[in-house]
Amino acid sequence: MSRRTKRAGRPAPAAARTPAVTAESPCPCGLPATYAHCCGRLHAGTVAAPTCESLMRSRYAAFVVRDEAYLLRTWHPDTRPPSVDFDPGMGWVRLEVLETTDGSPFHTTGTVTFRAHFTDDGRPDSLHEKSRFVRHDGAWVYATAVFVD
Ligand SMILES: [Zn+2]
Repeated sequence: MSRRTKRAGRPAPAAARTPAVTAESPCPCGLPATYAHCCGRLHAGTVAAPTCESLMRSRYAAFVVRDEAYLLRTWHPDTRPPSVDFDPGMGWVRLEVLETTDGSPFHTTGTVTFRAHFTDDGRPDSLHEKSRFVRHDGAWVYATAVFVD
């Protein structure tokens, strides 16, 4: 992605596109709750995700609020990258959870198929992925992508 020169007197495009998420904002994950009462509690470490779907939603929300620490600690150590790069030209728009298998409090593995809508330098695009989650030390973590379109 090429760098553009910033025009004087205008906010940076990424800042203009991505309003800051506050405790009272609707949760970026799409559930009808405020951020503080939804994924914010998971990001703060107050509660752990009970299901794969809730972990998936909280990880999407962590990309929106750029919570690198949360993304890394909910990533299986075998597949976890050293760091997470947040692309400043990318704006997350919406998460659609399409299908889940297993992943309840009574399972040890599960999958979530989702479509994450975003804009890349203003162009609408989406990521279609089936993610696999496993329990690690009792907590759900992201293991790997089963497929990515
Ligand atoms: Zn949420």
